[in-house]
Amino acid sequence: MQAHSDIVIAGGGPVGATLALLLADSRFSVQLIEARADLSRPLHRRTLALSYGSRLILERLGVWATLRDVTPITTIHISQRGALGMAWIKAAEENLPALGYVVDYAELDQALHARLRATTVDVVCGARVAAIRRTGGYALLEVQRDSVRHALTTRLAVIADGGAGAAQRVTRDYGQHALIATVTTELPHQNCAFERFTPDGPAALLPQGDACALVWTATPERVAALLELPEADFLVQLHAHFGDRLGRFLSVSARGRFPLGLRYAARPIQPHQVMIGNAAQMLHPVAGQGFNLGLRDAWELAEVIRTRPHGELGSAAMLMGYRRQRQLDTRGGIFFTDLLVRLFSNDNALLKHGCSLGLSALQLLPPVKHFVARRMIFGARG
Ligand SMILES: Cc1cc2nc3c(=O)[nH]c(=O)nc-3n(C[C@H](O)[C@H](O)[C@H](O)COP(=O)(O)OP(=O)(O)OC[C@H]3O[C@@H](n4cnc5c(N)ncnc54)[C@H](O)[C@@H]3O)c2cc1C
Repeated sequence: MQAHSDIVIAGGGPVGATLALLLADSRFSVQLIEARADLSRPLHRRTLALSYGSRLILERLGVWATLRDVTPITTIHISQRGALGMAWIKAAEENLPALGYVVDYAELDQALHARLRATTVDVVCGARVAAIRRTGGYALLEVQRDSVRHALTTRLAVIADGGAGAAQRVTRDYGQHALIATVTTELPHQNCAFERFTPDGPAALLPQGDACALVWTATPERVAALLELPEADFLVQLHAHFGDRLGRFLSVSARGRFPLGLRYAARPIQPHQVMIGNAAQMLHPVAGQGFNLGLRDAWELAEVIRTRPHGELGSAAMLMGYRRQRQLDTRGGIFFTDLLVRLFSNDNALLKHGCSLGLSALQLLPPVKHFVARRMIFGARG
């Protein structure tokens, strides 16, 4: 562990590791501190829908080509249970080979770290950043490793710990949990991702190989009950919830759960400190925006670091510049997912009718659909 580096990244999940790679051949010394001692053990078990824009970033880093298990999404089908409105977004209409791709979190995490091993970035595993404070023109980090406390100084501390730290946060509890699993279906998915809105919360089926990754949101009590159901009963319930688009559900893997909410940092930048990825904003997984937004945080921060004069690293001017660049995209992502969850997770007949009309309008007005698609794929800058 180095006592001083120009940049210290706290957290080597996919967002922190991406930033480390983006800075690997820069003029700055970079140290990545990761709490896991064993990088082959991912922090989360989940499937990620990556946008086409995220693919472009991972391609530039030489990571994309090393991923083996990638399923393209060529159509997104959006529907609402108990209403007629629905919409399709197709890759061909956007002149893209795919709208997005489904990858495994663990595989992506490992591919990023494999690539990092070929760089000069100092990756310190099994070490936890316990506190960060400002001291003069630096940030001072307290790092705990093997019961020993180390003090590190840096001109810029990047917090990418997924929100594990105790920073002050704005929060909204949706009263929803996500049940995640892999399911097989009677009919082939044909690379279509399904997003179905219900009063309990949205449910998504993402194409993954020959199977589908399921993210089913519902009240914590309902999710607890679904986790306990024998496989055959679970599959019947899923069919009743999801409808007939993929025929019957044939099997389900081990089921997991995550509590859901909106949390974002009240002060994502402070002198010599910046938060990115889930440390800065943790969104509901509806529309698969969270990691894509975090990747754009990493991209934009690396751009600001690279293009500003060397002496400005960690300065208020540099961090404000970064904040200005990211504000529209971050606020847009928070607003978009929050609105979707709150409008559609609703039993109010008027609202339900309004949402159904909104989906029909999306389908019938190609310019509006194109606008929404570009923002989902490339962020607020479209
Ligand atoms: C059910 C579900 C489905 C999702 N689906 C999608 C999707 O389809 N598409 C999408 O874009 N997003 C999705 N997301 C969101 C996505 O998982 C997150 O946005 C993404 O994991 C954030 O990455 P991160 O690197 O910021 O944080 P994390 O993945 O949480 O990684 C944080 C890292 O920091 C390390 N760490 C923690 N504390 C410390 C410390 N004190 N010191 C050092 N290291 C530390 C951890 O060990 C970990 O490696 C989903 C989320 C959920 C819950």
